[in-house]
Amino acid sequence: MEQARFSHAYIVTGSPDKTEDAARRLAAGLLCAHPGPDGAACGDCAHCRKLRRGIHPDLIVLARQTDDKGKPKREIYVDQIRELASSAPVLPNEAARKVYLIREAGTMNPAAQNALLKLLEEPPPFDAFVLETDSAAALLETVRSRCVLRSAGEGEDAPPAEARELAERWIDLAAAGARVSLISFANENAEKSTAELTDFARAARGLLTDMLCARLPARGLSRPELLRLVELTDRCAEYLRFNVSVKHVLGMLSAETVA
Ligand SMILES: [Zn+2]
Repeated sequence: MEQARFSHAYIVTGSPDKTEDAARRLAAGLLCAHPGPDGAACGDCAHCRKLRRGIHPDLIVLARQTDDKGKPKREIYVDQIRELASSAPVLPNEAARKVYLIREAGTMNPAAQNALLKLLEEPPPFDAFVLETDSAAALLETVRSRCVLRSAGEGEDAPPAEARELAERWIDLAAAGARVSLISFANENAEKSTAELTDFARAARGLLTDMLCARLPARGLSRPELLRLVELTDRCAEYLRFNVSVKHVLGMLSAETVA
C-alpha cells in the first residue's frame, strides 16, 4: 500500500481564518489509518470518526491559556511547552502516532520556542508537531528550519498559470541576485491588481515550499535564502491583505529580494 509521506514537524501558515482548519486537516491525515497518497484523512476510519467528535486521545491541542476572565493570555509560556515535552515520550494511545497541534504558535515566547526546538531536534519517532500560525516570521529561524512549511490555501485551488510564471521569474531573479532586473520586474508589474499580486505571492510561496521540501530543485538557493524568500512572500501577502498598494509591495519586494 502506498504510504503518505510523513514529517515530524509542520508549520501551517496563511490567513487566520484558514490556518486552524488546515492544521486540523493535516493532523487528521497524520492520525488516520488509511490516508490518501496526498496525506488526506479518509474521513471514515475509527480515528477519523473520533477526531470528528473531538475525542481522539492522540491529538493534543496546545493554545494560549486564558486568564480568570476567560481572556487569552498574551503568550504561550515555556511551562506549557515543558509539560508537553514531558508527555512526548509516552506512546500513542490508539493511533500510530501522537500529534501535538500548537495553535497560534507565533505567540510562543522565545523561551517556549527554544524548549520546543529541543523536542524538534530529537522527536520521539511516534510524535508529530503541527504549528499553526498566521505568520511564520514570528517563529525563530531555528524552529522554522526543522519544519515542513504548508500554506493553508495549499491544494485548494491552484494559483493561475500567469501567477505561477511570474513567481518562477521572480525566483530566478532572486537566485541570480539580479538587483537591477528586480527593479524592472517591479516596474513592469506595477499595474497589476491586488488580487493578481496576491495570486503571485501564493504561487511563489508554493514553489518555495516545494523547494524547501525538495519536491522541486532549489535553483542554487540555500535553505536560509529560501526561508528568507518565504518570509518575504508572506509579508507581501500580509501587506496586500491590509490594502497596502501594489506599487509599495512591489517596491519592498524588489528592494529585499536580494539580501
Ligand atoms: Zn481515516
